Amino acid sequence: YTGKSGSQLLTENLKKLYVKDYQSLPVVVNDNVSVYDAICHMFLEDVGTLFVVDQNALLAGVLSRKDLLRASIGQQDLTNLPVNVIMTRMPNVTYCEKDDLLVSVATKLIDKQIDSLPVVRKTEQGYEVFGRITKTNITKAFVSLSKDES
Ligand code: ADP
Repeated sequence: YTGKSGSQLLTENLKKLYVKDYQSLPVVVNDNVSVYDAICHMFLEDVGTLFVVDQNALLAGVLSRKDLLRASIGQQDLTNLPVNVIMTRMPNVTYCEKDDLLVSVATKLIDKQIDSLPVVRKTEQGYEVFGRITKTNITKAFVSLSKDES
């Protein structure tokens, strides 16, 4: 018996949960696609957030459901409105990396009041997107803690 309290054990276990073990595949669109196409893509891929990349496949922005809804309630032609006009753009995109702790991602989601983060790999040219962490991934990690023997 270690004599550790329940919350000490929980904290120890939380520090074993890394982004790389819980991330999903990102769903990305090019920055020149129309808002109309982005909406179709969001439905087809069944995600709540799209990541936007430039012609070099580097992170350029983020599109949430509400960004697309907001653009849709105006009188604009959605087939002629590029997503880069309405997206949240770099350097204002909050991101994480594969070796980050899941708790640090959860903290960012709460602090910024957002649903997901791109998992990026930093290069000299910019950030490559190769994963995503959403509230669902965090919830799965939470459930996995409850199934732990230790
Ligand atoms: P929704 O707007 O559908 O409720 P979010 O809460 O995730 O979805 O998004 C809220 C706002 O924050 C949107 O304008 C969106 O573009 C922006 N946003 C979402 N994810 C990020 C992120 N990782 N970094 C910066 N801004 C983001």
